[in-house]
Amino acid sequence: MSNDNLPSYTNPETVVLHSGYRSDPVTGAVAVPIYQTTSYQFNDTQHAENLFALKELGNIYTRIMNPTCDVLEKRVAAMDGGVGALALSSGQAASTFAIQNIAQAGDNVVSSTDLYGGTWNLFANTLKTAGIEVRFVDPADPEAFRRASDDKTQAYYAESLPNPKLQAFPIAEVAAIGEDLGIPLIVDNTACPVICRPFDHGAHIIVYSSTKYIGGHGTSIGGVLVDSGTFDWEKHQDRFPLLSEPDPSYHGAVWIEAVKPLGPIAYILKARVTLLRDLGSCMSPFNAFLFLQGLESLPLRMERHCENAAKVADYLTGREGITKVIYPSFFEGEERRRANTYMTGGLGALVGFELTGGRDAGRRFIDSLKMIYHVANIGDARTLAIHPATTTHSQLSVEEQAATGVNENYVRLSIGIEHIDDIIADLDQALTAAM
Ligand code: PLP
Repeated sequence: MSNDNLPSYTNPETVVLHSGYRSDPVTGAVAVPIYQTTSYQFNDTQHAENLFALKELGNIYTRIMNPTCDVLEKRVAAMDGGVGALALSSGQAASTFAIQNIAQAGDNVVSSTDLYGGTWNLFANTLKTAGIEVRFVDPADPEAFRRASDDKTQAYYAESLPNPKLQAFPIAEVAAIGEDLGIPLIVDNTACPVICRPFDHGAHIIVYSSTKYIGGHGTSIGGVLVDSGTFDWEKHQDRFPLLSEPDPSYHGAVWIEAVKPLGPIAYILKARVTLLRDLGSCMSPFNAFLFLQGLESLPLRMERHCENAAKVADYLTGREGITKVIYPSFFEGEERRRANTYMTGGLGALVGFELTGGRDAGRRFIDSLKMIYHVANIGDARTLAIHPATTTHSQLSVEEQAATGVNENYVRLSIGIEHIDDIIADLDQALTAAM
């Protein structure tokens, strides 16, 4: 069977193993080869001309496309039910591209306040210097997105499972407001791949830091941008001049017209052939290979991550010295409904807790851990712990920290796939030492 016209699968467990690639056409190799090359021999001058003119899609130069990255892109897109994806050098590059692909100076984006600290900085500072205003709203009230919108709003942005609050984002509610006003919803699904499927609830674009669960083994930094193909750019073309007006950087191409024969891929193709071309934040083929290894076991790992996290949350509840445990199973009312609606494959593997002893107890707890790693990361197969107020969120003001749900008592755990007894034993001895 060739790599063209492969059967299409919908179950994530099968998609991550079989979509987009069957075997190497020359050697028959079953593992996706690492195409460690910068460039690609053209068949002839006509072929080269067609590729540059986008009359044909194919390999030109690894900054813009690479066959190893291509399989990863196809598998992640298929996993989420999207029409295309773009592999990038980091999750930060993916969130930046997601916005810059449609927004320019003078435009604005309405974002949830509940964001990873790095994204908050990007939005509050770096995008601001580029003339793009990000308006932050509380996701507890989906209508706040509508109220903050105007005719320059290019996107809504949110994380499906933001930490530290761990309150699932109201994807369908905000996507519906976006459909109403002609504004796409971009969802960072880094913290809950497979278990949350944002496109099924109406989101239009997904951002991943593949550094986390997709890679799963803490080896590589990477990001993936996924296009659902469901946003009607043509209908709302007045709002999106970057897609609907001639692009001077590409011989005046009008993206919603130029790629129509290829399917609803205007957004993702433009991101590749303009932003990736110009900014150069490409994923290396070697890292794409490692992400493909991680992706193969992602659905299986997520099951164990979630199972272990639920057990840790139960263990921490009622443990002496802990005032609060943050895990979606403990939420009530609307927060619980949202968790149940959007996190259909499990409630995630992030668990937060607050210690009575504040900053000093937090430090003693972290310094006493023996198996659990103290690192600035989530989504590793190993269990990880961190004190956000003094690390990941330290560049934010105290008020900004509070808005994202961080205080100095708070410790974040990213629960791994070790045996649950060993995770709990390490937590238990470190908590005893911290008291
Ligand atoms: N989005 C979320 C939710 C994250 O947790 C992170 C990193 O921690 C990022 C994006 C940024 O990803 P990266 O570190 O791969 O640039």
